[in-house]
Amino acid sequence: MAKRDYYEVLSVAKTASDDEIKKAYRKLAMKYHPDRNPDNPEAEEKFKEAAEAYEILSDSEKRSMYDRMGHQAFEGGMGGGAGGGFGGFSAEDIFSQFGDIFGGAFGGGGRGGQQRARSGSDLRYVMELTLEEAVRGVKKTITFTAPAPCDACDGQGSKNPKDVETCKTCHGAGQVRMQQGFFSVQQTCSTCRGQGKIIKNPCGKCHGSGVSNRQQTLEVTIPAGVDNGDRVRLSGKGEAIRGGQPGDLYVEVVVREHEIFQRDGADLYMDVPVSIADAALGKEIEIPTLEGRVSLKIPEGTQTGKMFRLRGKGVKPVRTSMQGDLLCRIVIETPVNLTARQRELLKELQETMDGEDSKSSPKKKSFFGLFD
Ligand SMILES: [Zn+2]
Ligand SMILES: [Zn+2]
Repeated sequence: MAKRDYYEVLSVAKTASDDEIKKAYRKLAMKYHPDRNPDNPEAEEKFKEAAEAYEILSDSEKRSMYDRMGHQAFEGGMGGGAGGGFGGFSAEDIFSQFGDIFGGAFGGGGRGGQQRARSGSDLRYVMELTLEEAVRGVKKTITFTAPAPCDACDGQGSKNPKDVETCKTCHGAGQVRMQQGFFSVQQTCSTCRGQGKIIKNPCGKCHGSGVSNRQQTLEVTIPAGVDNGDRVRLSGKGEAIRGGQPGDLYVEVVVREHEIFQRDGADLYMDVPVSIADAALGKEIEIPTLEGRVSLKIPEGTQTGKMFRLRGKGVKPVRTSMQGDLLCRIVIETPVNLTARQRELLKELQETMDGEDSKSSPKKKSFFGLFD
């Protein structure tokens, strides 16, 4: 995910004043606004990019974080809410299994702690990734069925907007005040059941609910470095409801087991099988990493279980700038399916090693020494 520098996106100097940043953003927002560029994905991309840059640079705290740490400060492509108010985009936040790290602070114009009167449920989608996909990041298309605004009535509950009337009991508030002794209590309006509106002629397809189950297809960008349990939020892509905000869709990552590598945070572990001869004599061998093969020098006399650390060949977790290591555990492989010649050579070797004064198996010697 090569991201452009936010200052470059807005074409302003690093020393630009708040006013200059605002002006630059407005210019771009007007130029690339989706209303002016219908069906132009490139413009939409530019618009989102500018909104994201503005969201960071217009906030002194986020701006100073960005100045210090760059994109890493907000790793995971947040851009929450696309500047607020424009809507319609999937603002993606990355969440940790340990709680919402950026969601609260940078979640954008969504729910930010405020109680919403009526909103759809959040939905969860479990996405299985290979280790390579999780480490490098990936774009995936997902298909799921969820309540979406009814396409026959555009989510209004009635085909003719004139058939949707404001509730006369609560005047559209959905709540009514009741006097109970000294207290006045708020209650959900029973006439409209809290919806604030009465539908005189309900839509035939959704029977006035304004929503219908629909198969939806979305492209989800998974940032590089995610691990099991990390979640990407697609705001507003959850359950839709009439007259309220839709819920969010959480895409939760599950990483498939890898044949060679095991991941632990930033580090990767692997077992490296080595022949007895290579371990005893020493050899430079080739081993796989996530970025292709590298050579590993096995020194003379390497024992099974010995760990070698290859710095920087691990993973860069999504919320840090730290690049992990690859830890290689040597496993000495006993030779099998011997040819006659190999058997002969090994026998010869065996005889030379069996002697009382042999120094080639020090551990074995001291082990038996304990029983003498
Ligand atoms: Zn009402
Ligand atoms: Zn409908």
